Amino acid sequence: MALTIAGLSKTYPNGVKALQDISLTIGNHMFGLLGPNGAGKSTLMRTIATLQAPDTGSIHLDGIDVLAKKAEVRQILGYLPQEFGVYPKVSALDMLHHLAVMKGITNKKERSEIVDALLQQTNLWESRKKSLGTYSGGMKQRFGIAQALLGKPKLIIVDEPTAGLDPAERNRFLNLLSSIGREVIVILSTHIVDDVRELCPRMAIIAKGKVLLEGAPSEALSALDGKIWSKVVANDEELKALESEMQVISTHLIAGQHEVRIYSDSNPGDGFKPVESGLEDVYFLSLARSAKN
Ligand code: ADP
Repeated sequence: MALTIAGLSKTYPNGVKALQDISLTIGNHMFGLLGPNGAGKSTLMRTIATLQAPDTGSIHLDGIDVLAKKAEVRQILGYLPQEFGVYPKVSALDMLHHLAVMKGITNKKERSEIVDALLQQTNLWESRKKSLGTYSGGMKQRFGIAQALLGKPKLIIVDEPTAGLDPAERNRFLNLLSSIGREVIVILSTHIVDDVRELCPRMAIIAKGKVLLEGAPSEALSALDGKIWSKVVANDEELKALESEMQVISTHLIAGQHEVRIYSDSNPGDGFKPVESGLEDVYFLSLARSAKN
């Protein structure tokens, strides 16, 4: 399976260019779509999920023209939207049965087997009879994955699923995502660099509706080998001075002091030490370079 997106653009009626000539090819693996808020991730996810139309461009899932064959795509699509509402008074068990019927799984015995297996897989079996309104954020997201997996989808789209989860819930959720079969395309949209680092063999960074970088995180990291330098600065004046002289990638507060990371082809001296590059460097550098253009 491969998803091929070519020349996708979308301008909203208010003039916001949410997608600007996006082209991506995504194979059978977990693909991370990384970008800041407002980058166009949800617009792209909704467009792939056949819920909104682009102005121009095409999307193909193997031989299927996604934009033309909506019903066909929906048969093989699992989607966890960013705003995933649940009916608060209904139990997970009843809701999954209901959604399974909507997906065409009408045989009761078969449906029970599928629903029970999904509740086990998402670790919600013990809470299956509790109403969804009593679920924690992490449980709701795991329920969201359970419903997205109904009907054995070949394409699974999860839009910013870890935002707002505490570290333990996030971990559990990422483990669940990584356990989804290898024969499917999973697109994970996120603004959290670690989500991509932990899960995705391939990724794209997008901002302001444009693809800034596409490839394997490991390749993007090697491109920065030996070019990331760090030091702790004493005060805001020194930080400001550095920002005007060097290509500052990020600053982190560590115990009240600013640790500055910069990009430089050669040793910048001035107390900087070479450090291992991280995916966050790749991300911030891509954003900084695009902001200059
Ligand atoms: P992300 O998911 O990366 O945060 P979105 O796709 O939600 O990005 O939004 C991309 C841009 O399009 C933002 O500037 C947002 O404000 C704008 N936008 C999103 N949806 C609409 C809409 N329905 N009408 C007008 N502007 C929109």
